[in-house]
Amino acid sequence: MSVTQIDRSRIESLVRQAIQSGNLVGATSPSPTSAIVDPPGWIDGKPNLRVSISARHVHLTDEHVEVLFGSGVKLEPEKDLYQDGFYAAKQTVMVVGPRRRMLPNVRVLGPTRGASQVELAFTDSISLGIDAPVRHSGKIEGTPGCVLVGPAGSVQLQQGVIRAARHVHMNFADAEHFGVSNGDMMQLKITSNDCSMVFEDVLVRADAAAKLEVHIDTDEGNACNLDAASKVELTKSGCKCKG
Ligand SMILES: [Zn+2]
Repeated sequence: MSVTQIDRSRIESLVRQAIQSGNLVGATSPSPTSAIVDPPGWIDGKPNLRVSISARHVHLTDEHVEVLFGSGVKLEPEKDLYQDGFYAAKQTVMVVGPRRRMLPNVRVLGPTRGASQVELAFTDSISLGIDAPVRHSGKIEGTPGCVLVGPAGSVQLQQGVIRAARHVHMNFADAEHFGVSNGDMMQLKITSNDCSMVFEDVLVRADAAAKLEVHIDTDEGNACNLDAASKVELTKSGCKCKG
């Protein structure tokens, strides 16, 4: 008889005694509430940073969708975006600036919103001849307008043409991981052969359902050759303005 067999039979008898006396306290079965569920977008228990180029696009109201594409028409989702619930629609519009300069086939993103808005990169705004300011999405007061043309009609926007300011979507678990909260600024470092860059002023947009994703525009993405980048790092800005 080997030592191992003796040990095993002793252990078995001890376990049997414990079960009979009701003293087996250590053996708990896992309860559903103790199961670990990763926050949205996390992989292997960690945030998974994604940096995406947000190419020029348009957001529309329900009313403008009908004017541009026809009475009763709704946006048709063509491709889901990384952020759950958002999509690139099948529909596109022509964006027309002053002196008849225009950008054809500008993608509409859904779902619809309370105000229509055109988001361009700096190069787009130069080619359109519109002096679009850098603004965060939805902050369109006092911005220039343009004309949108669709297959069923056109819309004159009095305002809403912006260069979308760089920002990072994240959920509250991501925010806690980075030690930031909604409205804070972060820094994004892109390591890329011969054109590495550090982006300051990356605004935190925290939301329960968001996945960790930085949005930069086409000019910003091209400047650091994002597609060929070897590393992306997001850090909290060393802001001394807060007490
Ligand atoms: Zn975004």
